[in-house]
Amino acid sequence: MIIGIWILGNQLHSEQAALLSRKNNKQETPVIFIESHHYIQKKPYHQQKLVLVFSAMRHFAEELSAQGWQVTYKIAQDFKPSLNDWINRNQITELRLVTPYDRPFLNLINSFKLDCKIKFIPNNHFLWSQEEFKQWNDSRKRLLLEDFYREGRKRFNVLMEEDQPIGKKWNFDKQNRKPPKQNLNPPTPLWFEPDDITQQVIDDVKSYKIKTYGKIEPFKWGVTRSQALQVLDHFLENNLNNFGTYQDAMITGEYTMWHSLISPYINLGLLRPLEVIQKIEKAYHDFNYPLNSVEGLIRQILGWREYMYGIYQLMDDDYRDKNWFDHQEKLPEFYWDSSQTDMNCLKQVLQQVEETGYGHHIQRLMVLSNFALIVGVSPQAINDWFHSAFIDGYDWVMVPNVIGMGQFADGGILASKPYAASANYINKMSDYCKNCVYKQTKRTGEKACPFNFFYWDFLSRHQDKLKSLGRMNLILANLKKMDSEELEIIQSQAQQWREKH
Ligand code: FAD
Ligand code: SF4
Repeated sequence: MIIGIWILGNQLHSEQAALLSRKNNKQETPVIFIESHHYIQKKPYHQQKLVLVFSAMRHFAEELSAQGWQVTYKIAQDFKPSLNDWINRNQITELRLVTPYDRPFLNLINSFKLDCKIKFIPNNHFLWSQEEFKQWNDSRKRLLLEDFYREGRKRFNVLMEEDQPIGKKWNFDKQNRKPPKQNLNPPTPLWFEPDDITQQVIDDVKSYKIKTYGKIEPFKWGVTRSQALQVLDHFLENNLNNFGTYQDAMITGEYTMWHSLISPYINLGLLRPLEVIQKIEKAYHDFNYPLNSVEGLIRQILGWREYMYGIYQLMDDDYRDKNWFDHQEKLPEFYWDSSQTDMNCLKQVLQQVEETGYGHHIQRLMVLSNFALIVGVSPQAINDWFHSAFIDGYDWVMVPNVIGMGQFADGGILASKPYAASANYINKMSDYCKNCVYKQTKRTGEKACPFNFFYWDFLSRHQDKLKSLGRMNLILANLKKMDSEELEIIQSQAQQWREKH
């Protein structure tokens, strides 16, 4: 039997090749990487995402070659002909690869007619296996992040003192919502200059005649495990201290605040979730960092990241098509071009995404996704946009975050109420409203903030459905108190805005 190994672009774990071919020897085990042009035309991807993935693949392939693996690196139209050609040339009898995390990609591979058999190796890029998550879910009445997270803390012995949470509390979220009131000075993120390999990828991507999104340069992301580890260490040294406190805050021109910027690396496999968690916990013990920051970050990785992947695996294939509110509006054009909107919060965040492919959680959830939700954009249209635009976007993480959390299109499987908010929230958590042509206090009239009229329009359009979610009753009571004439003006202003965009 001759085994060949196919390494996918988001499976660049250092132990990958060895894992795939446990008993094989490097010199005799062919390994292949494929950049498929056809595949990258499925969506207008951010140019920096293409550069990041291809450059990380090329660096990883080079590392494996240097270790003695027999590596083939193909730049091709399609996966299948390249695979068959390589299979036949090397007389491979079994193709092995780690099971893709994304279902559409797994379905694509399963549709290939290859000239040898395929063996999928269970992925070990998440702490909970699909089976374990399912068992945990079967043992409960309803899915709850908080329960899952606590179970994870115990199971992996993270921030625990015997069977109790360190600090006697599981959750310090109340301390983690501080608005950016005083003059804040967030740390500078660690960026890198492109090396020769990355520069070559930038030139290649520029030469492709395909539809893309965003700016390709300056490209400052890391592309190797060593750089990813430097980003993590830089974060632990400079940002972790204040990570929790200002987790939700947004400031003009401050793209990254105290966030870690590790999602592109962890999602590619350059960092492993457990090593990241263990480093954070060690930093807590070594430097006595505030528990609200440390617990807040561990909750993101051990809680949210694992939970999202678990739900993605648990749900049926049609989860991505859910549309509880039956929203059918098209995505406003300015999502593709920030210069086309005069709403300052959206302009700032969209400009940042164009420049870097990055936005932090609250920019994604409470600005970009919130606006699409209250306007009534189709959840699938905004999901596709997120997938194209973000440097760390993959199907497994987009679908639960956008369809479930951001758009509430699953009717409450993932979240207990929709993340819908008016300008009030954005004004509290950012400085965007200060420099906006709209007034964050107005909900009707010429200068009315669109977040306001759409928010009330959203509540009134869906009040019957929202009533069924207990947590919306207080807000719906305020809607009831609203003057009916004002509500009519709000509804007509919302409709006019939709027709214009
Ligand atoms: P930090 O704030 O420093 O958090 C640390 C890490 O926690 C992240 O790197 C990530 O690995 C993990 N994490 C935190 N929240 C989540 C979450 N909800 N789901 C999964 N992992 C999480 N994350 C992606 O990795 N890719 C996406 O395409 C993506 N799209 C999103 C779309 C929407 C609408 C929303 C609401 C969230 C999305 N997220 C996505 C989750 C989260 O916003 C990003 O992981 C985070 O902003 C990445 O930046 P960071 O590394 O600086 O994160
Ligand atoms: Fe955004 Fe409205 Fe504030 Fe302008 S006033 S920045 S549109 S929330």
